[in-house]
Amino acid sequence: MTNKDSTESQGKFPRGSRSYIMSRIRGRDTKPEILVRRYLFSRGLRFRKNDPRYPGKPDVILPKYHVAIFVNGCFWHRHEGCRHATVPKTNVEFWTAKFLRNRARDAREEEELTTLGWHVIVVWECELTKSERAERLSRLYEEVTGESGTESDGESAPSPVGQAPFTIEHRSTLSKRLGDFSSSESLQTSHR
Ligand SMILES: [Zn+2]
Repeated sequence: MTNKDSTESQGKFPRGSRSYIMSRIRGRDTKPEILVRRYLFSRGLRFRKNDPRYPGKPDVILPKYHVAIFVNGCFWHRHEGCRHATVPKTNVEFWTAKFLRNRARDAREEEELTTLGWHVIVVWECELTKSERAERLSRLYEEVTGESGTESDGESAPSPVGQAPFTIEHRSTLSKRLGDFSSSESLQTSHR
């Protein structure tokens, strides 16, 4: 773990300038990756990092849980709807093509990993700001281990909302029947 990577990118360069962009290129052990790894390690999880044997060399691989984690910069990997996913004002065509390639590559790597049986999780750089970090990391832990997993973020989780009316109706019908039953029973018992 070298701390050599300059992490002064947080505002040192004007956004969209060459230096700013270059500072955002994914390298080894950039600060967000270190945050994620340090946290997972502190929670007792063991992992491999940037293992070239896996598509996309995921930043974190947790063999025990079959989970691959990418810690992605929002600009470079085009975090959708994120304020950091800006398009530089010059060379727009170049950037557009570049971003398309990046997204296609990310999607392809994720698909390959999924096919190989890995669950892919993306942590975005903007989710690791001081105010968001704690929440995001504990949610990550849940996603990885399944512990206290509330599944609120599960893409394939069935919507509980759709079931609610049925359950309520069913319950009221049931209690009504029980009510009828118990009253008829009490009638019977009073007869005997
Ligand atoms: Zn973002």
